[in-house]
Amino acid sequence: MLHNISHEDSNYITKIDRPQDYKYPCRSSDNYVPYPEDSLIKSRTIRVNVHFIDSTSAKYNIPEPKAETWAYHMIENANFRLRTNEQMNLPEGNETPCIPANYQYRLWKDDSTGLSVHYHYDDELYYMLTKGSGANNYDRKVINKYRIGEDSILNIFILPPHPDSIATGRYVASRSGISLGNSIKLTGPLSQGMKDWEMSTSVNHEAGHSFGLSHSWYKNDGCDDTPPNENCWSTMESGRCAGPTSNNMMDYNNSQMAITPCQLGKINMVMSDSRNTRRKLLVKDWCVKSSDVPITIHEDTSWKGYRDIDRDIIVESGTLSIYCKVSMAQGTKITIMPGATLTLLDAELYNDCGFQWEGIEVVQSKKEIGKFLMTGNAKISDIREKEDIMNK
Ligand SMILES: [Zn+2]
Repeated sequence: MLHNISHEDSNYITKIDRPQDYKYPCRSSDNYVPYPEDSLIKSRTIRVNVHFIDSTSAKYNIPEPKAETWAYHMIENANFRLRTNEQMNLPEGNETPCIPANYQYRLWKDDSTGLSVHYHYDDELYYMLTKGSGANNYDRKVINKYRIGEDSILNIFILPPHPDSIATGRYVASRSGISLGNSIKLTGPLSQGMKDWEMSTSVNHEAGHSFGLSHSWYKNDGCDDTPPNENCWSTMESGRCAGPTSNNMMDYNNSQMAITPCQLGKINMVMSDSRNTRRKLLVKDWCVKSSDVPITIHEDTSWKGYRDIDRDIIVESGTLSIYCKVSMAQGTKITIMPGATLTLLDAELYNDCGFQWEGIEVVQSKKEIGKFLMTGNAKISDIREKEDIMNK
């Protein structure tokens, strides 16, 4: 016998109190580390576009005919580095797990122009200076003027240094960047033959900032697996940079090829939080059911993070305890088999895309019935309305 539950005052829901030892786990990045064996942490795709700005003299940036290919390679190489993820250099002899990043960038065409790479000539706003009295790295004017789809696309600006600063001989046109939320500004020796892949680690570093990471050489980055360090560009023969130096993505070094589990957890927490504006930069591929293979629960299991579920869930035996908001894709349902339990601890089951899902089925046998427990603050919403009919 089958009972369909689509609303909270169903007779088949038992209201419970929060357990005494309850701790709110949804804002703890430990619960978002994308371990390969945890298929519940989805792979994510960040929409990006790229803007090159040059003066009308067309002398200082990557030339316009080469810009699209250059941007494409820059993004491709940044994706390659994320997939590769190298073992941390620090601390020496560490056994920090090396988990491939579960996110990639995708060049995204906007609706109005059909382009993902844009080129602008602007004598006032074409440059980026990170030091000195003319420093404008924090200035948002160029962003405000040229950004496209900024609420759903990460806008990457490629800006040359100012030629007057270069002419002084005192300004080094080194690679540098800044994250200003949904936009990133990057600069480097662009007119001096800078290679596309040389900018890729800056894309990863600044996108890391946009998705919640701090510099890792400081102690207070919130991660135990990124030890404080001297932030050395490379290893030197002697002095403070003798010995192994950092290769972390969020330090300044010639590698930036390592991201730790804690850092990935922080990024994924931002990507999973429906209230975080950065989540809107992701390709929304969790809205509708995308697999006929259900998630089957056979033993006591706790989900302690926001999750986007794109398939059915069958609680076969044991208890599935859900602690945080879980988006159920359109067309999916949860089945609680006789003797098994689903518990919502202040969690909400909903659809993140404004669609409806199929709700919860409680299965009853001659001897037993599936149990559905909810605390007072738990919610179920966006369920397609059905009658509580017995189908068998
Ligand atoms: Zn930084």
